[in-house]
Amino acid sequence: MLMKKQKGKCTLCNQYFTSEDNLEIDHIIPQISGGKNNMANKQLLHNYCHHKKTTSDGSRERKSN
Ligand SMILES: [Zn+2]
Repeated sequence: MLMKKQKGKCTLCNQYFTSEDNLEIDHIIPQISGGKNNMANKQLLHNYCHHKKTTSDGSRERKSN
């Protein structure tokens, strides 16, 4: 479903997925930032793109407040 919605492309790097890529489901808005766990908030990314995004969007960080 996500694959069709994204036309077979990774939303981060804009490259087409191939059968050799490892894909991961990403929360567009991280759940730690109030993102919902539903289809509208999910996207498919390459695993390496997902890692790049999670290290930059703060979802890996623990908030202390
Ligand atoms: Zn990608």
